[in-house]
This record gives sequence, C-alpha cells and structure tokens, in this order.
Amino acid sequence: MGTQVVEEATGAPTAPTRTGLLIIGASQSGVQLAVSLRALGFDEHITLLGDEDHRPYQRPALSKEFLQGTVESESLIFRSNEYWAEHNVELVKGEYIVRIDKEADGSGVAHASSGREFPFKRLALTVGARARKLEIDGGDLDGVLYLRNADDALALKARVGDATDVVVIGGGFIGLEAASSLQKMGKNVTVLEFGPRLVGRAVGEETAEYFLQAHRSRGLDIRLNTSAARFTAGDADGGTHVAAVELQDGTVLPAQIVLVGIGVIPNTQLAEQLGLAVDNGVVVDRFALASDGTTVAVGDVANMPNPVPGSEPGERIRLESVNNAIEHAKVAAYSLTGRREEYAGIPWFWSNQADLKLQIAGLCNGFDQTVIRRDEERGKFSVLYYRQGRIIAADCVNAPLDFMAVRNALAKGQNIPADAAADTATQLKTITTDS
Ligand code: NAP
Repeated sequence: MGTQVVEEATGAPTAPTRTGLLIIGASQSGVQLAVSLRALGFDEHITLLGDEDHRPYQRPALSKEFLQGTVESESLIFRSNEYWAEHNVELVKGEYIVRIDKEADGSGVAHASSGREFPFKRLALTVGARARKLEIDGGDLDGVLYLRNADDALALKARVGDATDVVVIGGGFIGLEAASSLQKMGKNVTVLEFGPRLVGRAVGEETAEYFLQAHRSRGLDIRLNTSAARFTAGDADGGTHVAAVELQDGTVLPAQIVLVGIGVIPNTQLAEQLGLAVDNGVVVDRFALASDGTTVAVGDVANMPNPVPGSEPGERIRLESVNNAIEHAKVAAYSLTGRREEYAGIPWFWSNQADLKLQIAGLCNGFDQTVIRRDEERGKFSVLYYRQGRIIAADCVNAPLDFMAVRNALAKGQNIPADAAADTATQLKTITTDS
C-alpha cells in the first residue's frame, strides 16, 4: 500500500491511496500512537509521516550518550523497518506538511511542501515543538547551535572536536545535560541562565540550588541572572564563525561553540490553519480530541486537562516529556478506536547530568510545604512537595527509592506524611498511608 502517485499502463496518474490514519510527526508520541493502535486491534492502514530524513529515533540520548559517542545512532532507532512493514504502518520520511484540507467527518488531504498529497480518513497531530531561537546580533553565525533533533546533534558533534570553549545559553534540562556532556569531553563550559535559578520551570527552589552547587563543585561555570548581548565572529573563516559571547555587562567570553537551549515553542501552525482551538498548544479534551472532535493531538504539542488526580477543575497543562508522550498517545489510541479511557499514571520526568540522576514524580504546581531529605554521605537528595498536607510531587537526585515510593503513592492515591518523611533514615515506602 503506498501513497505515491502511481502511473497506470495508460500513463494517467491515479490518486494517492487514502490512509486510515495519517499521523503527522514521527517522534516519541507518533510512534507510540501507531504501536498502541496496533495493540488495540486498529486494522486500518496507518501512515506515520515525519519531516526528518531519519527513521524515528529516541531523543533523550542526543544531549548525553550520543553527543559523548558512547552509543551508536542505530541503537536509538525505535522500531525496525520489518516491524513497520509487518504492522502495515507506512513510514514517510522527509516530508513537511504545509497545509491540510479537512472535512467535517474528520477525513481530508494533507499537502507537503514537495507537492505530495496524503489523503486520510482520520488525522493525528504529533508535531511536537521547536527550539526557541535567540534573536540577538550574531545569532546566525556558524557555530551558534541548538539541540532538538538528530541533525542538531550531528552538527554539534561535528564541531565539538575543534572547540576548546563552549558557552551554553539556558540553564534548563537541555543546557545542563549538554553542558555536563561537553565538560566531560574536556571542553571549558560556561552556562548563562537568564533567571535567578536553574531549571526554573521544572523544579522548586531547593532542587535548583542543589543543582547549582553540585554543578559548580564539579567545575561548571554557571552564571545566573545573566544574558548574552551579542555573538561576535573572529577573523578566521572570513568572519563567519562565532568566536566570542558578549554579555550585557560588557564581559566577553571566548566561544567556538554557542549552544542555545532556551525552551521550545509548540508547533501549532497546522492546527491554527485548520481552525482548531489553540492556546499554548493544541487544546484537547481528556481523550486527546481537538476542538473539531475528530483530530487527535498528542504529546508536547497538546494542551490537555491536568491529568493528576486532585488537580483543580479546569486546570490545563502542556507537558514536554517522554513519559507524557507515551501515556498521552495511549489515550489517543483508545479515542481513535472508539473507547474513552483517561490518562493513566502520574507524570514523571528524568534528567541525567554528569553523575546527578534527577527523577521527578508528579507536578509540584501549587505546593505549600516541602520536606527535604539530604544524605550527603551517599550523595542523595530529595525534595517532597505537599499541598494541604498531601504529597503531590518529589524531585529526587540519586535517590531512586524515594522516587519510586512517591510515584507509587501518587498512583494509588496514598499519602506520605510530611513529619515522618523528614527522617532520612526512614524508607518512604514504609510510611505511606491510605488517607
Ligand atoms: P527549558 O527547560 O524551558 O529551559 C530553558 C532555560 O533557559 C530556562 O531556565 C530559561 O529561563 C532559560 N532562558 C530563557 N531565555 C534565556 C536567555 N535569553 N538567556 C539565558 N537563559 C534563558 O528548555 P530547554 O532546556 O531548552 O529544553 C527544551 C525542551 O526539551 C524542554 O521541553 C525540556 O523539558 C525538554 N528536554 C527534556 C529533557 C529531560 O526531560 N531530561 C532533557 C532535555 C530536554 P526562564 O525559565 O527564566 O525563562
């Protein structure tokens, strides 16, 4: 089954075949959607379409093992070509959809920039997010890089050998993971963070402070409340390559590579063109359905009702994580097979930075109390977040047992009383309560 225009014996082109489901976006959530649909018995033809020239791959390693050269690119590939063929999923690479015509029944035609057309019965948007650009002087110099996809990682890898000084802009997950990797690779790394603390969006103040001290003690130069004014070129390479970063206060830092990780912007262009409700992502209901009632939107691009039990009615959230891409895709797969199943499990996240393994269970929004469990000797550190006496989340560094205990308690609707949790000698799983 193909979507190409096929020349018949007469020479007249036939219309491209209509797929049962067109999934636009072939990354974590798109792949999971196709896989979950097959597991649920969805038997229509599926087209999984992406704009990259690579087969769908896992992204978390790009800033770590892949950059450091400790894994081969082949091991990041999600599924073999045989898997897709056996499961009647057609993989389309290197096609960028620019416009979609859609009917009220959910069917339509997607138009690629190449001129190819992809007719479909149902549509899924798993288009993710793109790196936010830093629009300052020198931003388009060679050597000013981003890290969102495999081509970005390849570009960074190709340049890293010649560099001695790297400036990383943004102290979020991407910035800190890449900075740790580049430092391990022998580079002199400086991290510039605009805000007053690291990983501002994802963790609370105590965890941010822990990471600041931990990274500084490992030799990373981290500057908070600092932003770049411009990037300047040197005389070499005809003045086209970045050579330095000038800060707002006039300080000049040498840099043969600048890596920018200042957040992402959800790819809502197609949803907007379709007239779907968009508000910091594609607005979806609890079943991953967009405002037209037929299109599903999944993963980083979707703005969904907060799935955490006990969250405020009407509260919405857009999550950027692997775990969310997987769980949300399962919800969408149920929807597309006519079942109504809500998000299962508790959102969780992880980030490995040097020897610091951060695991986050739940969402700490709206917390009114924290409990800190610090074990200097074993290098463990956890922050437990509470709202009105009930545990809602935890950040755990090198403390997998704390993470598992909190994640399990949240999933079962149990509590971990704050006063008992403060004793670091106590294992959290032994003090969970049912109310
Ligand atoms: P991020 O987590 O939003 O962090 C961006 C950081 O850059 C924030 O601390 C932000 O500060 C700061 N910033 C913004 N503008 C700046 C500027 N002009 N100069 C200096 N700092 C600036 O985004 P990210 O690190 O780029 O990561 C991109 C996406 O990939 C996110 O969705 C992230 O969750 C995901 N990712 C996840 C993982 C993981 O789960 N392990 C790993 C890598 C990437 P303010 O908050 O003050 O704006």
